[in-house]
Amino acid sequence: MAKEVLYSSTRGAKGQIPASLAILKGLAPDGGLYVPDHIPALEKSLREISQMSYQDVAYEVMKLLLTDYTEEELKYCISHAYDSKFDTEEIAPLAEADGAFYLELYHGATIAFKDMALSILPYLMTTAAKKNDVKNEIVILTATSGDTGKAALAGFADVPGTRIIVFYPKHGVSPIQEQQMVTQKGDNTCVIGIEGNFDDAQTGVKKIFTDPELAKELDAKGFQFSSANSINIGRLVPQIVYYVYAYTRLLKEGRIADNEAINVVVPTGNFGNILAAYYAKNMGVPIAKLICASNSNKVLFDFFQTGEYDRNRDFVLTSSPSMDILISSNLERLIYHIAGDNAAKDAEYMGQLSSTGKYEITDEMRSKLTDFFGGFATEEETWATIKNVFDKTGYLMDTHTAVASSVYNKYVEETGDKTVTVIASTASPFKFTRSVMNALGKGDDSKDDFALADELSAVSGVEIPEAVSSIRTAKIRHNTVVDKADMQKAVMNFLA
Ligand SMILES: *Cc1c(COP(=O)(O)O)cnc(C)c1O
Repeated sequence: MAKEVLYSSTRGAKGQIPASLAILKGLAPDGGLYVPDHIPALEKSLREISQMSYQDVAYEVMKLLLTDYTEEELKYCISHAYDSKFDTEEIAPLAEADGAFYLELYHGATIAFKDMALSILPYLMTTAAKKNDVKNEIVILTATSGDTGKAALAGFADVPGTRIIVFYPKHGVSPIQEQQMVTQKGDNTCVIGIEGNFDDAQTGVKKIFTDPELAKELDAKGFQFSSANSINIGRLVPQIVYYVYAYTRLLKEGRIADNEAINVVVPTGNFGNILAAYYAKNMGVPIAKLICASNSNKVLFDFFQTGEYDRNRDFVLTSSPSMDILISSNLERLIYHIAGDNAAKDAEYMGQLSSTGKYEITDEMRSKLTDFFGGFATEEETWATIKNVFDKTGYLMDTHTAVASSVYNKYVEETGDKTVTVIASTASPFKFTRSVMNALGKGDDSKDDFALADELSAVSGVEIPEAVSSIRTAKIRHNTVVDKADMQKAVMNFLA
């Protein structure tokens, strides 16, 4: 039997708790994020794992980190999550184009990579509630830059014992993203636009979470909060799976030899996806470079360049809105680890971040970041990448993936590194139709996004995904918009 993995706060709240409790709570009471006390190594060889299905790889990885779930519980969660909601049996297929492998993480219900974790989180959470004898109704509180919201709504809609409230920046998501959310069915769902950006939404949600008075008041009414954001360890763990899966598929297909290292490029916003790759590496997947790709909100690029994290800058709205973020929450977990699992140090930096908007790590910590490479792509570079790759190979990618692809090209130019590379492809091009059509030089301002989707389908020969066609004429069920200062009031209204 492997050693049990326990979780504690990055900011040092006392006590360690098992995975199921960390998933139920979402965020630690001191505002920190739950982190594992050690990162277990894979038990089977990568060669053995290369023979397994996605579901079996998921079990092999998740059992090592979610050690208080029984085999039966985990397998139940996995089989209900990774089923025909995905439009391919492979769940996360690899497509080769223009000298790299695109790991397509968008074959789930809402056609963005958030489905990879959010299709299983409701099962992990309701199982955790059962295990821990929780009688309260669980209220999922989520801030979204566009994709998490819909994926969480789809996952939690009509799940007994849960309610879900999603806040999104009213003027910061694509029309298709907004339409996906405001048409969401389910009596337990609530979608609210805020006058503010994603960071405002995320900060507001964290504030509601960590208000002890509010928690008491809700407990008396039979509710408790949890989070579907990537601050929840139940989001992060399922995301490790597809890096193990991708590596072992390359191995199986003879594209790499045993133990050969690969590079991974991740279009990054909240730092959850790339942190999962970092954990995969620490579990034994041979990954050489973790290439962190940012859009014009390049706070992470600057951090990797200088060791200073500084959010004091203008927030830019780009055509990759799910990466329009200046406070990358999950970076806190990396900071904690490179400080030597030092919660006091982490709390100090996070205190500085909240009071001055910046902090600078030590040289010793920087020396532990040599596996990371930070890059960014401008809007023009992003659009050119979509067009170039499509013209050259016929492979079509969305704007977020194109940020990664563009950064990868610049990385190769700069370093000459020819290592086999996996690029995380995080959304279907049909989720960002207008931007993709503009990039191809086929934009048309007089047409709506659905008409453009028809044209994109004709141009690319790819069928419009069900996730888009089904919302075309769906009824709008949510139309509340509040000021960012009134988020708590909106929550209380919904629960009243
Ligand atoms: C959420 C998202 C990202 C950013 O992922 P993080 O885990 O927040 O870094 C990138 N692309 C798309 C399409 C997304 O939905």
